[in-house]
Amino acid sequence: MSHDLVIIGGGPAGLTAGIYGARAGLQTVIIEMAMPGGHAATTHYIENYPGFPDGVGGIELAEKIKQQVLRFGVEIIGSEVKAISKKNGDFVVETDSRQFSAPAAIIAIGTNWRKLDVPGESELRGRGVSYCATCDGPLFKTRDVAVIGCGNSGLQEGKFLLQFVNRVTFVEFLPDVTADKILYDRLKGEERVDFLTNQEVLSIDGTQRVESITVRDRGTGMQQTIPVSGIFIYVGLEPNTGMLSDIVDLDEKGFVIVDARMRTREPGLFAAGDICSKAIRQVVTACAEGATAAISAYHYLETMK
Ligand SMILES: Cc1cc2nc3c(=O)[nH]c(=O)nc-3n(C[C@H](O)[C@H](O)[C@H](O)COP(=O)(O)OP(=O)(O)OC[C@H]3O[C@@H](n4cnc5c(N)ncnc54)[C@H](O)[C@@H]3O)c2cc1C
Repeated sequence: MSHDLVIIGGGPAGLTAGIYGARAGLQTVIIEMAMPGGHAATTHYIENYPGFPDGVGGIELAEKIKQQVLRFGVEIIGSEVKAISKKNGDFVVETDSRQFSAPAAIIAIGTNWRKLDVPGESELRGRGVSYCATCDGPLFKTRDVAVIGCGNSGLQEGKFLLQFVNRVTFVEFLPDVTADKILYDRLKGEERVDFLTNQEVLSIDGTQRVESITVRDRGTGMQQTIPVSGIFIYVGLEPNTGMLSDIVDLDEKGFVIVDARMRTREPGLFAAGDICSKAIRQVVTACAEGATAAISAYHYLETMK
């Protein structure tokens, strides 16, 4: 199928690129392998996206952006992109069942959760091990759970879990909590919360389901096993740019290198959002970059005429 602009990924960056592409008159398609909205849609509550003085649910925000995209006639295809290449001046984007081509493309595939890489993590995934409190939190009503990682995501999602679970033990590898102070202040006096810092997770234990985690204090070496029914892992994000390595430049961590107009090294190919090599990964920056990428794609196509 031939379009003017193919956007890979329908998170905040890709969806916003869709709005700007379609409004510029480009025949635009977004290919998204899961639910439109990306990580924003798996966040229970976003309170720093402008325009929502009382904050907004992640699913609600994602749905509103999706409706805006559809209003401008953008097609959203539900498929995983497996490969992208350039042939005869067009980008060819392949899914398992279809092929899309366009003279301009935007990569907006975001990031994946980094794994802890400890025994029990993959074996018990979906049986107590989760990377999404918004999706799985209600399954742990009145249970004790652990949240691994005390950055903004860990504390934000841990706070959400408290409305269902009995107790949350936050576990942090570094000596201190790294989340914004406002998030930490909301939790640190809470009775049903424990913070364990400077702890290495050694294993996630259980046969059929998660039963406990074992951690080691990095200072004293002391080990302890904490009984929990669920473990929510927020230890960072990593790019999944394997399929892109031949066509764009990647930084040392695998993020796509772009210039201020979101151009990659390949003419006509742009990138936006969390997949880019940069300092700040937020909804507002992803949206801004999606808009910039689509406008740049429009200018690129104009110069090709
Ligand atoms: C737990 C958590 C809490 C957060 N809280 C906030 C907050 O309060 N405020 C804030 O501003 N930001 C927050 N963020 C960050 C914010 O969600 C991200 O910065 C933003 O979603 C990035 O948008 P994106 O479109 O670049 O990538 P993503 O949101 O990651 O979207 C990428 C999309 O691409 C799709 N995709 C990936 N690979 C393929 C493929 N091969 N084929 C097709 N589709 C593909 C994915 O399914 C996904 O939908 C939070 C993030 C997390 C994880």
